[in-house]
Amino acid sequence: MVLAGSNEVLVRWQVYARELSVRTAYATADFAFWSGGNVLLWPVGGTDLPAEIVVGLPAAWSLAAGSAPVSTSDDGREARFSVRDQDQAVDTPCLAGRLEEFEVAVAGRSHRFVEVGRAGLAPPQSYREDLTAVLRASAAVFGGEPPFARFTFLTLFGERGRGGLEHMDSAALVAPRTTFAPRSSYEDYLALVAHEYLHAWNVKRMRPREFEGYDLECENHTELLWVAEGFTAYLDDLLCLRAGVTTPARYLARLASHVDAMLVNPGRFRQSLAEASFDAWLLLYRPDESTRNATQNYYTNGALAAFVIDAAIREHSSGRHTLDDALRILWRDTYAVGRGYDHRDVCSAISAAAGTKLDDFVDGLTRGPFDPDLTSALGLFGLRLELVDDDTPRLGVRFDAQHTTIAAVQDGTPAERGGLCPGDEILAIDRLRVRPETFASIWTACAGAGRAVRVLLAREGLLREHDVVPDHPTSGKARITSVAEPNESQCAHRRAWLGAMPLGNSTASDD
Ligand SMILES: [Zn+2]
Repeated sequence: MVLAGSNEVLVRWQVYARELSVRTAYATADFAFWSGGNVLLWPVGGTDLPAEIVVGLPAAWSLAAGSAPVSTSDDGREARFSVRDQDQAVDTPCLAGRLEEFEVAVAGRSHRFVEVGRAGLAPPQSYREDLTAVLRASAAVFGGEPPFARFTFLTLFGERGRGGLEHMDSAALVAPRTTFAPRSSYEDYLALVAHEYLHAWNVKRMRPREFEGYDLECENHTELLWVAEGFTAYLDDLLCLRAGVTTPARYLARLASHVDAMLVNPGRFRQSLAEASFDAWLLLYRPDESTRNATQNYYTNGALAAFVIDAAIREHSSGRHTLDDALRILWRDTYAVGRGYDHRDVCSAISAAAGTKLDDFVDGLTRGPFDPDLTSALGLFGLRLELVDDDTPRLGVRFDAQHTTIAAVQDGTPAERGGLCPGDEILAIDRLRVRPETFASIWTACAGAGRAVRVLLAREGLLREHDVVPDHPTSGKARITSVAEPNESQCAHRRAWLGAMPLGNSTASDD
């Protein structure tokens, strides 16, 4: 609306807010969450203009807007905050509702936790101490004064889902409200907190060169998400260990779970970590039936890359330096002098921490097929990777939920060799009718390794029969265990990496 006789333009818009995620918008009678980039309009050519954002509130609600100071009207029905430009508005996630809040102090800064949706499910007694310990360990990675005045976590506890979105001085988290038990699920949440918090340094400030002037109108590609996300994903679990909220055995079980994911991902031989980073906008967030065969995940495989790089730095520097030092060097040489980093900067920082040139090693991990030498890296700590054989005959497919319709066929498996395709609905095995709830037992009963079974399926409305020869997986579930008698050097490296706690039985359990 253009007002006559004035140079003002009034624009009204409505936003459909029905997606509960940290990057979109959601509003019900229970609470409202929105990410600024999802709901706010800014004048073209005026993205550096400041704004005051006014939010009308139902009775008894309050508003948290990232770490921005919010002022509320006397009757509590209107809250407002200011932003200096569009960037800050996009970087200020908002949560409104009947909010639960508490603060903890770490590294001389206030850290506010604002939560909705717990529905009476209580966290452990040690919740605040655990969060404090995790934040303290995280802030210590880069050391010094935290680069923000105050930090805020906005957490949406819901029915399901897990994820986070980092901002300059806040983070939005989604987690299941049942996350506080069992212990493994609680530690998963603490690792998410560590992950998003560490991003305040790694990626919100120290960032790939391509993200220096982020263009909000289009996808912004970089080959370096294995640093921004992979290094962060490696450290988030490790920070829980350093904080004392998990044990070495459970930490190693989480590392082994990344190995499990890698072993069923043939795409890592087709696409490098650098390419996976570059294609994030196209592939990672738009998965389809070919994802595992054609691509790789720069989070979990990036975490394994970070682990072998950490081990290499520790080995070459005789235990004097670690991946943390490489990150601090990268910070000092790029963000601290006002620029983004490129691949060479990352290699230089890693090499400087190691005290020897590791460029070829890093290139090999990130610019070609991904096949990290985990045996050597674990060997430094007197650990080894065991693959526990699975004696269930393998088919090599994933089904749609609640169906026997194939969602994906893994390359190099009996299903692929037998000509099965995504979209095929399996109806019978050796003439025995299968249903979602009986498939596993019928498959296991019929499928002896080396003997063909007859699969009846429907494809595009036509019945077909295929002979499939099951096999046993060449690699079963990964487990990281101690070698029988680690030597002195291995013990020293292990202590420096995993702390002084005894490793115990390294087949981790959920206790
Ligand atoms: Zn992340």
